[in-house]
Amino acid sequence: MKFSTAAALFFAPSVLAFAPAQPAFRPVTSLKSTEAAAETKAFAKLPASVKPGVVTGQALVDLLQHAKKEGFAIPGVNIVGSNSINACMEAAAKYGGPIMITFSKGGGAYIAGKTLKNENDSASVAGCIAGAKHVREVAKLYGVPVVLHTDHCQKSWLPWIDQLMDANEAYFKEHGEPLFSSHMLDLSEEPLEENIAICKKYLERMAKCNVLLEFELGVTGGEEDGVDNSDVDNDKLYTQPEEVYYAYKELGSVPNGHFTCAASFGNVHGVYAPGNVELRPIILHNTQKYIQEKEGCEDTKPMMFVFHGGSGSSTEDIQYAIEAGVIKMNIDTDTQWAFWDGMREYEAKYHDYLQGQIGNPEGPDKPNKKYYDPRMPLRAGEEAMANRLVKAAQDLNCVNVLN
Ligand SMILES: [Zn+2]
Repeated sequence: MKFSTAAALFFAPSVLAFAPAQPAFRPVTSLKSTEAAAETKAFAKLPASVKPGVVTGQALVDLLQHAKKEGFAIPGVNIVGSNSINACMEAAAKYGGPIMITFSKGGGAYIAGKTLKNENDSASVAGCIAGAKHVREVAKLYGVPVVLHTDHCQKSWLPWIDQLMDANEAYFKEHGEPLFSSHMLDLSEEPLEENIAICKKYLERMAKCNVLLEFELGVTGGEEDGVDNSDVDNDKLYTQPEEVYYAYKELGSVPNGHFTCAASFGNVHGVYAPGNVELRPIILHNTQKYIQEKEGCEDTKPMMFVFHGGSGSSTEDIQYAIEAGVIKMNIDTDTQWAFWDGMREYEAKYHDYLQGQIGNPEGPDKPNKKYYDPRMPLRAGEEAMANRLVKAAQDLNCVNVLN
């Protein structure tokens, strides 16, 4: 099984703070400065730096810190094209919260087209960039904060991230912010020191163009996107607090470095019959306590964790993980099912109108064009996926957190 992650975010104070989007000038006002600041807020309940559309840099850090403080987690959703991308933003507008749109390496290749050879990850890279640009064009219209993220990247896949970093740097030069908000590196199969050394090297590059890093410790069980971790040793499923603290110190030494940690606590990708692996979110609570004691800091939750392999978890376990500083939960399996289930229902409902171009129960000459238009079943999938995400947002306390 592929093993999971909880993520810790560390926020290094920085003079190179990301510049939030500000108007070029402000109208003369007699309001006090605090009131003036409130006036520029896009969302009443969120930090002023967070605006509708793609959120990067300091605004992303502000958003995640706010989520940790307020006790909600953002749904992080794997997508495969504009249908699932739009379903994410439709859902976020419905539940009134932020959304994280996540591209996998395979998902990127799928967006570019299945017949492409994908030599040197050319299709994976082009598809992710195309998808990111789609989001950038439409996200503001949905009026919600959107985080653009990529999913698991193992050691042999690093050239994929290298090329996405090239794209981030080019975008940064032109727009003053990266194309993607964050990338995940999953070196959890390597020894701890090597895992963190590689992450640190990448974070040094990411920090220069305000990209946030998500890293993994331990292993998420199960199988996802062609990576099968079904045979991983059981102890890798449960991260030790000392390991998280080691990463916290190492990555925290990178100037302007911002990161979240996916530390495994028995989480598994996919949905399986219960009883195989036990989820132990207590590990995240113990880790926070360990770091707080080591650092002697006030903050009882110094790390930001992310939760992989959440599909099929009990609401109780999810809530307990959020209390331990989980600020994002990945959702893939459950939304895959929801999208399919929506199309399945559509076909079942209109079966007799979908057996030929002409002829249905209303008559042998009746045309069926409006039933087999691909937009109809795809829309049914989008709706079902968006509805499932509203339910996910409820589990994550992420409803009505904007205004
Ligand atoms: Zn994962």
